[in-house]
Amino acid sequence: MKEWVQRSAWMLAAMVVVGGCSAAQRAGASKGVASVLISDEQEIQIGKQVKAELEKDPNFRYVEDPAVVDYVTRLATPILQSANEVRRAPWKLHVVDDDKVVNAFATPGGFLYIYTGLILAADNEAELAGVLGHEAAHVTERHSARALVNQYGIQAVTALALGENANLLGQITSTIAGQGLMLANSRSAENEADRAGAHFSNGGGYDPRGLATFFEKLKAEQGSTPGILAFLSTHPDPGDRVQNVNRIIQEDNLKATGGRSPGRLEEIKARIRNN
Ligand code: ZN
Repeated sequence: MKEWVQRSAWMLAAMVVVGGCSAAQRAGASKGVASVLISDEQEIQIGKQVKAELEKDPNFRYVEDPAVVDYVTRLATPILQSANEVRRAPWKLHVVDDDKVVNAFATPGGFLYIYTGLILAADNEAELAGVLGHEAAHVTERHSARALVNQYGIQAVTALALGENANLLGQITSTIAGQGLMLANSRSAENEADRAGAHFSNGGGYDPRGLATFFEKLKAEQGSTPGILAFLSTHPDPGDRVQNVNRIIQEDNLKATGGRSPGRLEEIKARIRNN
């Protein structure tokens, strides 16, 4: 399972090293560079290949109960519609069957993975919405594409975009899925994903404070619940994140109120526990 966390850490990582400009300028520039160099089709291809690699692991299973899958899909739909206003992606949502892992991650091309352990850890729908919005934001902000530029260099990725480096695509996917490079998420990528994610969750009608309360809970339970480490290893500093999310909500005047009550979540959690 540790390997898993490492994989997702790499996929979400976006450490861009460019000297002489502010963090915001770097983020803007690298996003532009990534979108020029890596096409939507290439991102989808990478996402599909990563999925195929993940599925080779016999312990990696999807939830089969249609009630659970439908529930998460319905919950996510308005959030992803909101994300589509920023960048349209062919979203594919997968619920991974492992009650002990509190985690969620995104890969290039709009593939979102959410573990049953994270669903069980949520107290209301706004918290789930917050996590899904945040992961969707990693896709719309092209964080994994940007990480590729950083990892392989602009020249190699340009050659890939021009169709001059057929081997690189295979190399990239096997690195993402197999080798499990351990890189920390950059703080700027996480901040961007928190901001865009809060907007997507709010745009979908969910109280955007859900992500903050979820981080708060992880922080409180960090020591006692081992499965939480999975999400925290790719989403560090829950204390700061809570403040950051709350600040974003105030600054951007986000006011949606949906999802504060558990809704059908308790029924779905019971189904997950009984499966
Ligand atoms: Zn993140």
